[in-house]
Amino acid sequence: MTNLVSKWNYPTTVLFGGGRVAELPAALKTTGISNPLFVTDPGLAKLPVVASTLKILDDADVPYGVFSDVKPNPVESNLAAGIDVFRQGKHDGVIAFGGGSALDLGKLIAFQAGQTRPLWDFEDIGDWWTRADASKIVPIVAVPTTAGTGSEVGRAGVITHEASHTKKVIFHPKMLPGIVIADPELTTGMPAFITAGTGMDALAHCLEAYCAPGYHPMADGIAVEGMRLVFENLPKAFANGNDLVARAHMMSAAAMGATAFQKGLGAIHSLSHPIGALYDTHHGMTNAVFMPYVLAFNRAAIEDRIARVARYVGIEGGFDGFGKAILKLREELGVPHTLPGLVKGLDMDDERKQLIADMAVVDPTAGGNPVELTKSAALTILQNAIDGRL
Ligand code: NAD
Repeated sequence: MTNLVSKWNYPTTVLFGGGRVAELPAALKTTGISNPLFVTDPGLAKLPVVASTLKILDDADVPYGVFSDVKPNPVESNLAAGIDVFRQGKHDGVIAFGGGSALDLGKLIAFQAGQTRPLWDFEDIGDWWTRADASKIVPIVAVPTTAGTGSEVGRAGVITHEASHTKKVIFHPKMLPGIVIADPELTTGMPAFITAGTGMDALAHCLEAYCAPGYHPMADGIAVEGMRLVFENLPKAFANGNDLVARAHMMSAAAMGATAFQKGLGAIHSLSHPIGALYDTHHGMTNAVFMPYVLAFNRAAIEDRIARVARYVGIEGGFDGFGKAILKLREELGVPHTLPGLVKGLDMDDERKQLIADMAVVDPTAGGNPVELTKSAALTILQNAIDGRL
C-alpha cells in the first residue's frame, strides 16, 4: 500500500489507489449497474486477481456474468460472442477488467449490444459516431490491470477487422467509462515483457501527442509529465514488479497518455497498427520498436520541442540526448532494436512492405505526425526499423 490515493474527476471519475478494487460494488451502484457482465481475457481469468475481484462481487451479493473469450488484439468474432452472452444474461452494464484488449472489448460490448447498425458504421471517421443510438449504450466501470493503453479513460475501442487485417478504431463519447478504478496493486502480476511493452505504449502516447501539430497546451502539459513519470518509473517497475510506487506512477502515466492523445498520435502508431494486425505482435512492444526510427525521421519538425521536454525530464543533450535516453530505456527493458527482433523469422518481400506502407498512410493516426507521412516516408521508416538504421 502507498499513500498515492486520490479521486480525480478528469477526464472521468478515477478512484486511484492500492486496494480500491474493493470499491467495485459501490462503483456499480453509482453508475446504475445492477447486473454487470464482467469482461476479461482468458489469461487473466485463470489468475488470482480475477478470482479475488469476483469474490468482492460475491461478498456484496452482486449478480454478474463472466465473458473471457478475448484475444490479445481483439477481433470481431470476440465482440459477437460477447454480445450474445450480454444479451442472454440480460446484463445492464459492463465491468471491463484487464489490459487494453479486455478493456476495449468490454467497452465495445457496452456500446454495440443495443445498436442495430453494423459495428463498422461507427468507425472513428468524421461524425460517424452520431449514427449510434446513444440511449442504448450501457454504463461501463473500467478496471485496468496493465499500465499502458489508457483505454480506461478513453472514448474508443480498437478492434481488428479480420477480412482486411486492419485495426479499426470505434469511437463514441459514451464509451468513456463512468468510473475507473485504478488500483496499482492489480498490476503487480504482469510479466516483465508486458510491463515493458505497456509502459512503452504509455510513453509512445505521451510522446506522439506532444509532437502532434496543433494548439493544445492542456494535452502538451499532461504528456510532458507523463513522459517524466515513465522515464523515472518504468525501469523500477520492470526491475521489481512489486514496487507499488513505481506501479502507481506507471498507472497514472498510462491514463495521462490516453488523455493527451486526444490531440493526436503519429507515425509510431501508423506503422505499429499494420504490424500488429498482420503479425499479431504486442501493441506497446511494437510501438517501442518503431519509436527511435520515427523520432529520428521527424527530427527537423520537433527538435526544439524535444529539447524542451528533455530539460523537464532531466535529460542532458537536447534532442540527441533524448534519443539516446530512449535507446537506453529500450535496452534496459529488453525491447528488440529491430522488427526482425520482434517478429521471429520475419522475411518481408517488397509486396508486403508496400502493403504495410499503404496501410500506414491511411491509418487514422497518420495525420498527427509532425512530418507528412507519405508512402515513401512510411517505407523509409519501415526499412530503417528492419535494418536497425538510425
Ligand atoms: P493486453 O490487454 O493484450 O494483455 C496482454 C497480456 O497481459 C494478456 O495475456 C493478459 O492476460 C496479460 N495481463 C494483463 N494484465 C495482467 C496482470 N495484471 N497480470 C498478469 N497478466 C496480465 O495488453 P495491453 O497492452 O494492455 O493492450 C493491448 C491492446 O490495447 C491492443 O489491442 C491495442 O490495440 C489496444 N489499445 C487500445 C487503446 C485505446 O485507446 N483504446 C490504446 C492503445 C492500445
